[in-house]
Amino acid sequence: MRKIYQIILSIIVSIFITATSVTPISAATTTTTTQNHCTNNSNHSIKCGNIGMWFGSRREVDTYFSSICNKWGTKYKNEEITWEEYTKNCPQGYECWSCSYCGKWTGNFVY
Ligand SMILES: [Zn+2]
Repeated sequence: MRKIYQIILSIIVSIFITATSVTPISAATTTTTTQNHCTNNSNHSIKCGNIGMWFGSRREVDTYFSSICNKWGTKYKNEEITWEEYTKNCPQGYECWSCSYCGKWTGNFVY
């Protein structure tokens, strides 16, 4: 009867040893997942504008704005769209801002 008790005790001790040796490893893995912002359009420090994209610099926003204007301008020139459609779709200007975490730029087109 005493032998069985000793076996049970040794099993409990061995479980305790494996449990404590595993703990530091799992603690280390949980601390590595802290980067959880700026991974998609909607988790930057500030909201994404109606442009719907983030740009590497303010200049890229300006370039994109110009290209959109040119696109609608060409459509109107080629008589693919009416003046009404042109004024409705072509932005008159834009406002932009940057994320304080990653420094990327987004903004709103003003119609
Ligand atoms: Zn960001």
